Formats: sequence, structure tokens, C-alpha cells
Amino acid sequence: MQHCSEFRTAISAGIDGEDLPPGVTGAALDAHLRGCAECHAWGERARRLRVLAAGLGMD
Ligand SMILES: [Zn+2]
Repeated sequence: MQHCSEFRTAISAGIDGEDLPPGVTGAALDAHLRGCAECHAWGERARRLRVLAAGLGMD
């Protein structure tokens, strides 16, 4: 069982268009997001903040 923080690193890498960290596959990330409401909400929030930051020219 992997820790939420590993998946959150992977989520943020995905949002930034970076490679997933070693040890986290896309399939494992999807499975975790289906079962973990906290990470799902965290991902949604991170994506919104990213869009917001891009809109403000903070890229
Ligand atoms: Zn989680």
C-alpha cells in the first residue's frame, strides 16, 4: 500500500505535464483516486489552482 503523499506528488506532476515519479504508475494512480476521496479532492483543487496561476501569469 502506497502512501497518499506519493500519489499527490504524481498528481501534481501530471498536472504540470511532467513524468510520474518512479514507483507510481498511471494505473495505480487511477485506482488510488477511485478509492481515496481525499486525494481526489486534492487533485481537483490542485488542478484549479494551476489554471488560476496560469491565468494570472504566474507560470
Ligand atoms: Zn490518497
